[in-house]
Amino acid sequence: MPFVAPTPPLPVGPMPRQMTSPPTLQQPQWSTASAQHRENSVNLLRDRQLLRTHGSEPIETVAPPPLGHSFPAEANCNPDVMSCTMNAVPATAELLRRSRLPLGLAMHPFKDLRSLAVIQANVIVRCRDCRAYINPFVRFSSQQRWRCSLCFLDNDLPEEFLYDPMSQTYGDPSRRPEIRNGTVEFIATQEYSVRPPPPATYILALDVSQVLSSDPAVAKSATAYLTAVSQTLLRCLDRLPGDTRTQLAVITFNGVLHLYKLDGPRPSLLAMPDLDGDSDLPMPEGLLVPVAECRDAIVELLESLPELEFPAVPGCCLGSALAIAHRLAQSSGGRLLLFLASRPSVGPGALSGPAGSDSDDLAGQPATDYYKRLALDCCSAQLSVDLFCVGPGHTDLASVMPIAVYSSGRVHRYPRLPDDADRLAADLGRHLTRKLGLEVSAVLRVRCSNGYSVAAFYGSCFVRATDLAALPCASPDAGFAIQLAVGDGAGTAGASEPVVFQAALLYTGRKGERRIRVHTLGLPVATRIEDVFAGSDQRAIIGLLAQIGAERIITGANRLSDARDALVNAAADPLAAYARATGQRGAGGLWSPPNIRLLPLLILALLKWPAFRPSVGQLDERAAALAEQLLPSLYALHLWPQPAETDSKQPASQPPSSPPRLHPSASQMEPGGTYLLDAGLKIFLVLPPSTGSAEAAQLLATRARAFADRLRADRPGLVPVVKLKLTSSAASMAALTPYLIEDRTDSSMSYLEFLQYLQK
Ligand SMILES: [Zn+2]
Repeated sequence: MPFVAPTPPLPVGPMPRQMTSPPTLQQPQWSTASAQHRENSVNLLRDRQLLRTHGSEPIETVAPPPLGHSFPAEANCNPDVMSCTMNAVPATAELLRRSRLPLGLAMHPFKDLRSLAVIQANVIVRCRDCRAYINPFVRFSSQQRWRCSLCFLDNDLPEEFLYDPMSQTYGDPSRRPEIRNGTVEFIATQEYSVRPPPPATYILALDVSQVLSSDPAVAKSATAYLTAVSQTLLRCLDRLPGDTRTQLAVITFNGVLHLYKLDGPRPSLLAMPDLDGDSDLPMPEGLLVPVAECRDAIVELLESLPELEFPAVPGCCLGSALAIAHRLAQSSGGRLLLFLASRPSVGPGALSGPAGSDSDDLAGQPATDYYKRLALDCCSAQLSVDLFCVGPGHTDLASVMPIAVYSSGRVHRYPRLPDDADRLAADLGRHLTRKLGLEVSAVLRVRCSNGYSVAAFYGSCFVRATDLAALPCASPDAGFAIQLAVGDGAGTAGASEPVVFQAALLYTGRKGERRIRVHTLGLPVATRIEDVFAGSDQRAIIGLLAQIGAERIITGANRLSDARDALVNAAADPLAAYARATGQRGAGGLWSPPNIRLLPLLILALLKWPAFRPSVGQLDERAAALAEQLLPSLYALHLWPQPAETDSKQPASQPPSSPPRLHPSASQMEPGGTYLLDAGLKIFLVLPPSTGSAEAAQLLATRARAFADRLRADRPGLVPVVKLKLTSSAASMAALTPYLIEDRTDSSMSYLEFLQYLQK
């Protein structure tokens, strides 16, 4: 709950508890002898049933170990918000190297939280030296002093920090919400504000170069996307976030730009002077208008959009469209929704040379860095660009995509229109109306304890410094990963001090106020290799690997092959290191610590994800953000006990809330069974040729639908449910094959083959 800390009178009330004696850090619970580690080892070649059979999360979330009674229970932030690949952090670089595991943080810093401590304070307490925010892992040496948990500097404590807003008394600083919670949000004072809040701004840029295409399928696809966009916008027009000042502009382009004056009673198309070469030319008035005041003209333009007769000039002047959008948003920032159907061919940023085919869109290097440079300009203007590739045309995504990737936007593809129109409408609707759509101009900084540092930052953002990323638009779906390095100063604070990582996100809230959300994670130090392995977290590891892999595909020299090789090594190396550390090398089998037992399966799933498959060669940037859903889940609906079947004498015993989970393999599916295959971006409902009585079929369908809806609820974008009747023909299985990732295909290994390969 928000509260305001008033200027404090003289402190009264109880003395702080135990301010002088430094509390001790509990040793990690897994601190046991190597022999026991060997006992707990999983032989992956023998133990193949590793998935949880119930629950909708196939990989359990590992909470960091408790750090003993000296720190509050909620000292760490939610693992879904920020988690470390190692819940016991290696004390030295040598120890990290020996484990061959990656050290890093996987985070969704903007994830919606059920409870959030919001603090409106006159003073935000930060370390004088490293600028870390006061957090649950600091020590109080007196009522006047606190020691930073990152750099160990002694700092003065402002008097008003002794005020406890809950009991409204003064005294013990450890009762403050900053000390009790792993995540807090400050409503910042004036000093953090950069400018008064600008109006929410949306700019639509629509490529209409394909509308008059001689290929009827291409022309139809262009009309389909324009229809979907205009209808979605009309539907969302009154629900756009912001206040009465929310403003909108529409640009269309083919070989030339078409601008629309919207400040009159009806929209009018402007004869567009050539603005490309001369950015000093005044911009025409009335292009970017308040929705509330110019609603009629906007509605008329949107309604007519799919049938408009655009000036027939061939080509695609994307660069000019972006330049105009950038100028329009210069003073307000905002969001550019860019719809691209063809390869930029005219004006600034035009791509020359032979056009590739759609399938090798990402096989080559970007032909220009024009769009990356423009993205950085957009970033400075607080304009984020979401790129929607529409239709079957080749857009040279490798060259164009940086406009979104470096401006914290997203990339979406809808190659099959009108079939993809529903998905386009759903994704666009979410972009336009989502709750946090206005929380913009964010800066994310990550700080680490002495001796640890940020080595690299991954995600859709502009990395300004190694530990600092700029995000014109911060979305709850946005995932980031940070690779960490261990330096010389690590471990000097002693085994009793946790290693602390702190992510601070400074952003503009919906009402224009500056806010700072601070996530803190404190973890014990590991000095033995067994503890490093025992503390590793496969969910965070796969999150980090997916982000690094996506980055390699976007920017690497050999892209796909490098990314794939690195992933195979990421599976093989830690297992080899583990076998060495536990003396199981040469003992036969492929041994894994229990908590990374799913890592090879997850990495195989990543290798089989479309973005990482050589034959597909296209980037689906959601792969990284949805790392947890990489692993397709197969559920046996016909084995799910019905509520009526449970023992009526024990009303407390409910049937499991989800059907039993099976490993994703055709061998797990029996004839006559009904299955639900959750493939992350798609859900398959697999029905047998005959489902018995109509009643039974109806009941099963209702339950399946309810379960699918539950799975879809948290996913960004529309997740279609595809019904599939399973006959004995091979063709009926073909749609499922890419997602039954434990099975072998013509071009990929089965899980067992992959394990045998890793063993070598
Ligand atoms: Zn400090």
